[in-house]
Amino acid sequence: SVRTRFAPSPTGYLHIGGARTALFNYLFAHHHGGQYLLRIEDTDRQRSTQDAVQQILDSLDWLGLSPDEPPVFQTANESRHAAVARELLAKGQAYLAYDTPEELAAMRAASEATKRPFKYDGSRWIALDPKDAPGVAPAIRIKAPKSGETAVSDLVQGEVRVANAELDDMIILRSDGTPTYLHAVVVDDHDMRITHVIRGDDHLTNTFRQCMVYDAMGWQRPKFAHIPLIHGADGAKLSKRHGAVGALEFREQGFLPEAVCNYLLRLGWGHGDEEFIPRDRAIELFDLGGVGRAASRMDYVKLTHLNGIYLRAADDGRLTEEVLARLSRHKVDFGTEGGDRVRALMPVLKERAKTLEELASSAAFAAVEGPPPMDAKAAAMLTPEAKARLADLAQFLTDAPWERADLESWLRDYAEVKGVKLGQVAQPLRIALSGSTQSPPIDAVLWALGRTEAMDRILAAAG
Ligand code: GLU
Repeated sequence: SVRTRFAPSPTGYLHIGGARTALFNYLFAHHHGGQYLLRIEDTDRQRSTQDAVQQILDSLDWLGLSPDEPPVFQTANESRHAAVARELLAKGQAYLAYDTPEELAAMRAASEATKRPFKYDGSRWIALDPKDAPGVAPAIRIKAPKSGETAVSDLVQGEVRVANAELDDMIILRSDGTPTYLHAVVVDDHDMRITHVIRGDDHLTNTFRQCMVYDAMGWQRPKFAHIPLIHGADGAKLSKRHGAVGALEFREQGFLPEAVCNYLLRLGWGHGDEEFIPRDRAIELFDLGGVGRAASRMDYVKLTHLNGIYLRAADDGRLTEEVLARLSRHKVDFGTEGGDRVRALMPVLKERAKTLEELASSAAFAAVEGPPPMDAKAAAMLTPEAKARLADLAQFLTDAPWERADLESWLRDYAEVKGVKLGQVAQPLRIALSGSTQSPPIDAVLWALGRTEAMDRILAAAG
């Protein structure tokens, strides 16, 4: 069955481009009823950190892209990588190379002088009888094919080929006994029974070298799909200066994981004009044929718009929890009933917000106990006339029916009886109840606060 893997190196946080690679691997495997795996490529011990591993796991968990099997750590397989290298040696597909660091440096300098890419040529070691070997710890190098070409039919890039004369005898096991990265990846992909390698197109050239290991071992190569990278709006590789790039930064900024996934899916893969593609639908539709070859551009405005659509579709209870968690983080004090008020107001609050962060700041006034902090503009509009209006309202509101629909008509009737415009009633109320000149519909705010809390605020503002 189909098995894919996402194989990040834990040298930093999970980049949004990596998240998209994970998503495509997840969708492809699940579309085919197969498994999606995770391999942490931690062989670069200098740059790999436990913190980065944790961030990657957290990011995938947040995005709903946790693997179907426990993660595999590449360093745990080092002895297996070495064993395969020795097997290639025994098969005559690899040889021991005794170059000293000085000899390698000289080779590199010589190729730099010709301005051509470095190509190792130490085939003189191939015929060496080990008893004549110099006193240097040898590396194991694979014998690269010297003529013909290596062709890969990539599921995104199409047919790609390289003349074998371009390849060289790469090291698979270093003289200190550690495997090289390109070798380790092949052994792991084989052992994990990966059928499809879906990754960024920056790995395309590695593929030819990895094919050498598959072919030398007589292993069947997986299918490859190299997907284009994500660029910023200006066409340059996506980086911090374009905006958020770390998956968890998007969480921080108040994006919903399903909106981020939907956006990433549509970035470089399309299904007609369909814009709203939740997970189930994505699994049903996803194929690699729909992935374009051109780099896609990250558009934060589109993402934010899509996030608004997901917010409006999200469950009010869940959104309330998210909002309360954010308010706590922002040190907004809400009493025991603050959550109920936010929950009651959620249907109207979410109509106007595009991110959870916006939602939280628009909900703060309802969460707090007692009169909310008043902004300068609102305070300036709290004239003696407005205060008198509030005092009058407070008298009459004690008997008002406390249902949203009834409150709306009650306010209209009140304005009519008093011979004032509805705005002259609504605006002071809005200021008293929310501390701002902008809020959701005033009848909804009154209703969600409840009579007691609303009256407290009105009386406080009336002075
Ligand atoms: N570890 C590599 C990276 O982080 C991915 C290698 C692969 O997918 O084969 O870019």
